[in-house]
Amino acid sequence: MTNFRIGIIGGGQLGRMLALSARDFAFEVRVVDPNPDCPASGVVDEVIVGNFDDPAAIGQLAEKSDVITYEIESAGVETLEKLEKKGITVSPSPRSLAIIRDKLGQKQFLTDKGIDVAPFAEVSSAADVEKLAQQWGYPLLLKSRFGAYDGRGNAVVDNAEEIPLALDKLGNKDLYAEAFVPFTKELAVMAARDSQGEIVLYPVVETEHYNNILRTVQIPAPIVPEHREKAEAVARQVMTHLDGAGVFGIELFLTSKGDIIVNEIAPRVHNSGHYTIEACLTSQFENQIRAVCGLPLGQTLLRTPAAVMVNLLGEENRPAELSGLAEVLAIDGAAVHIYGKKESRPDRKMGHITVLDISPTVAHQKAMQAIKTLRI
Ligand code: AMP
Repeated sequence: MTNFRIGIIGGGQLGRMLALSARDFAFEVRVVDPNPDCPASGVVDEVIVGNFDDPAAIGQLAEKSDVITYEIESAGVETLEKLEKKGITVSPSPRSLAIIRDKLGQKQFLTDKGIDVAPFAEVSSAADVEKLAQQWGYPLLLKSRFGAYDGRGNAVVDNAEEIPLALDKLGNKDLYAEAFVPFTKELAVMAARDSQGEIVLYPVVETEHYNNILRTVQIPAPIVPEHREKAEAVARQVMTHLDGAGVFGIELFLTSKGDIIVNEIAPRVHNSGHYTIEACLTSQFENQIRAVCGLPLGQTLLRTPAAVMVNLLGEENRPAELSGLAEVLAIDGAAVHIYGKKESRPDRKMGHITVLDISPTVAHQKAMQAIKTLRI
């Protein structure tokens, strides 16, 4: 088959960038999204309006698609499992989604496989949290098991008095606690598996978060070869335990002792891999499309000695209006992606900039200059 029809659950920026890659092969793309004006809407054949777990909407998508994939963990896993049983290709496998979407279950799964994660435990009361604090000390993190993204669903607890507030913030339901990892760096690796089981890794990158939200990605990560090799080995180990063709994001902590601890896995393309559009021979989005269609994966090598990706976040509640584009495009090596969201909101991901340069320092300086200039 050379004319694939791809169905994506989720039409956010990830769905948009996936669709743009599919367009390079003139494949048909449909998305399910509750918002008819979602970022993917301008670049797909059809938006089927419905929630990410709406069986009717996903059923409609399946009727019009050769393969179903997803860009969001809240895709209806039960519906996807049923479709798979009927012989419809869902990639990556809904089994991987089921493991990963429950962040507590994910941590247990990784522990069972002998992969290091931060100490964690389910909690249902302030007393549970206090007991754990006696073992781990403060600060610690409270996290929602389901549906957390961009820092919504996490609360840092610095002392016993803060526990009730943190429980309230997270809705007092389906929570777990995690010991704080005093990491020296946060790293990420994107990995792709083709339909034959072949795994390729993208370079190890350094990610920087502020208020739990990804701000910048430095490519490649400025780490010694030993730490890079360890991070790659852990990423490969994680991949061997998850099923299905597609791209996965693996977020890691590097500790002062040189240990690599898995923070979180995403069974999908990921913000820490946006740099691959300009900086790698094949982007994470194209490799996801290739993988789910049973096509050979493209090479993941860097085209540039260095790159920096920086997220363009909203600052206040107002209709989105871009300014500074011409100035940023005048910066050598800068590429701009705007997601087409109609409303700007504080910390909402509205777009991103990737700067390529031969020098990591210059790439960083240019990216910082660009992000100060671009407003939305
Ligand atoms: P998460 O959404 O759970 O990946 O958390 C978002 C960000 O919060 C991470 O990228 C870290 O910067 C921080 N974070 C999460 N868990 C921990 C932890 N156990 N220790 C220290 N920082 C953490």
